[in-house]
Amino acid sequence: MKIIDLSMPLDNKTPAYPGDERIHIEDIARVEQDGYSKKNISCNTHCGTHIDAPIHMVVGGKNLDQFALDHFMGEVVLIDVRKKAITKDCLKDKKINSNSVVLFLTGQSDNCYKEYYQGTKYIPEDVAQDLVKLKIKAIGVDALSPDTDPYPIHKILLPKNILIIENLMNLKELIGKESTIHFFPLKITQGDGSPCRAIAFVK
Ligand SMILES: [Zn+2]
Repeated sequence: MKIIDLSMPLDNKTPAYPGDERIHIEDIARVEQDGYSKKNISCNTHCGTHIDAPIHMVVGGKNLDQFALDHFMGEVVLIDVRKKAITKDCLKDKKINSNSVVLFLTGQSDNCYKEYYQGTKYIPEDVAQDLVKLKIKAIGVDALSPDTDPYPIHKILLPKNILIIENLMNLKELIGKESTIHFFPLKITQGDGSPCRAIAFVK
């Protein structure tokens, strides 16, 4: 079994959502001079590879505490849309069920340190509605977001408790393979989102 890291490195170069402050990491002690090393990290709950909980965009929606841990893992259904538009046809011939986590490989994260904000392929509403009917656990994208203001895809998926994983990387490594994804959040009380270490176990 092979483990693939699908997470974005967290450092002062990590791209932030437009308008947000970037994550800031600084040394507050160094072992050479202080006898121990320690860093301060400041960031919002949506930095790097992270999960969006329903309360992020839905009044009265669930926060991360209210999901059983097994909601943060599932069977990967990879949709490779690098060379095509995202349409309902992309879901045909895929085995999608209530244990699925549907990942969209757009190629956007190849440019994560330059032009990451340009040319994102967003998910159309009819595709999101089909995913709701299939009662999946989560979707994931290798981009900042599956949609943009006024966030129709967030507002279709999150009320149905379908989580959204943003800023994934390395999805290409999963092409043609059977895998499971694990994306456990930090245990932030009433979290509306959380950075996560997303990894895939390839069978
Ligand atoms: Zn988010």
